[in-house]
Amino acid sequence: MTNRFMRSWNIYCLFCAVLVIVPSLAFPQVKPAKSPPRTLTPAKQTAVSWVDANQAKLIDVNQAIWNYAEVGLQEYKSSQALIDLLTANGFTIQKGVAGMPTAFVASYGSGKPVIGMMAEYDALPGLSQDTVPYRKPLVENGAGHGCGHSIFGTASTAAAIAIKDAMVKGKLAGTIRLYGTPAEETGIGKVYMVKAGLFDDVDAVLHWHLGDKTAVGYGTTKAVVSVKFTFTGVAAHASASPHQGRSALDAVELMDIGVNYMREHVKEDARIHYVITDGGGQPNVVPPRAQVWYYVRANTHKDVENYYAWIVDIAKAAAQMTKTSVEVKVDSDTHEILPNRPLAELLYSNLTLVGAPRFTDDEKMFARKLQETVEQEFGGKFDRALSEEVEPLPDRPEQGTASTDVGEVSWKVPTIGMRASSTVYGAPGHSWLNVAASGMSIGQKGMVVAAKALACTGIELLTNPKAVEAAWADFRARTKDTTFVSLIPPGQGPPTAIR
Ligand SMILES: [Zn+2]
Repeated sequence: MTNRFMRSWNIYCLFCAVLVIVPSLAFPQVKPAKSPPRTLTPAKQTAVSWVDANQAKLIDVNQAIWNYAEVGLQEYKSSQALIDLLTANGFTIQKGVAGMPTAFVASYGSGKPVIGMMAEYDALPGLSQDTVPYRKPLVENGAGHGCGHSIFGTASTAAAIAIKDAMVKGKLAGTIRLYGTPAEETGIGKVYMVKAGLFDDVDAVLHWHLGDKTAVGYGTTKAVVSVKFTFTGVAAHASASPHQGRSALDAVELMDIGVNYMREHVKEDARIHYVITDGGGQPNVVPPRAQVWYYVRANTHKDVENYYAWIVDIAKAAAQMTKTSVEVKVDSDTHEILPNRPLAELLYSNLTLVGAPRFTDDEKMFARKLQETVEQEFGGKFDRALSEEVEPLPDRPEQGTASTDVGEVSWKVPTIGMRASSTVYGAPGHSWLNVAASGMSIGQKGMVVAAKALACTGIELLTNPKAVEAAWADFRARTKDTTFVSLIPPGQGPPTAIR
């Protein structure tokens, strides 16, 4: 889909305010009472030490997945790289879960509580890029990690193993589970893993994402349904016997026109986009088959349901107009993220304990060169190269403009995510800039921060039943008046291929 946290981050700051703090030397000040120093508990220290001690290995795993750059449902080598790391560290693996060969669940421990950690590892088509600050594909038209899922998968896996290490050394009870979730970019993996019941016994779920800032994701996303409309007509010679043909492509075009008129009458937060995946073979044959693929998004799933029903009516009408038939197939359907305040506060406290990544002058120079490519194209000027601070926790959930299948998990189990500064400040989502950053030290530093913050939060959830209870109380309060609706027909399994 896209970076779920990349919303209005591409702010071109034209003014830079510098705060000058002048220390008072003449009048000694009475020092205010300090709050007690916040330190890592022994269990958290164990987890953080595991991440530090294994950094070289984690970087290797990230580089391997970054190089594989496998797109959704084809992440065989990428998922195996994470499975190998988990197996070597004592986890039990279930491969090929929920009908997807590249989905897996890795577990350590037994009984309650069950803490889930989510890993993603799919790449994006057309974004192959070397780790240089100018556009240079490694493979022409190849895929690349433009959403940073190589560091995502590696850090989440590291967090799970670090928690396991703390469990062993501190004799902590419970279960830590790493969910290997494929095909996030098309919203497939987690949706079908939830449907398969793989999250039914989980107490809380953690995740993170590449970002241009370090922050807890106390916010929501757009709900989205991914649906394909396949029209069937009758082939005929387009010049000699058009009266004996029925064009499926005409139906697609009329449908798209209908939807484009519908746009005027939907709420401003709706986003409807499509690609024609099959428009026929060649002009002298009336196309007997044509297909159009839609994403329909809105801030609430309820609105998506309404728009979806309207668009299905338009498709049927287009079929009637052209004397063709239409088949409607929902590939995936995911809700907006359900925020969780207690989990957000818990993750925030651990994230501030770990701190944001710090970058070298060389890394900042590299980032500046990447930013210049955006500035040259779109104008403005960024006020910093890389973010090195933890952003304050927002008081209210923020509304995002993208979507993620994390949403579906969040309506099943209290879920919280974060982002760590791991790409250039202001980098567009799904861009080659993110591929470059996540394949080198900038991304790796964010990966390490995320692994530590997630591990510390996971340990707290594992050892503090009150934290889990608070998360569930918030979850129940937010869901009590809602009915969960999925547009995926009951019993339908995941698609075997995206295209
Ligand atoms: Zn992503």
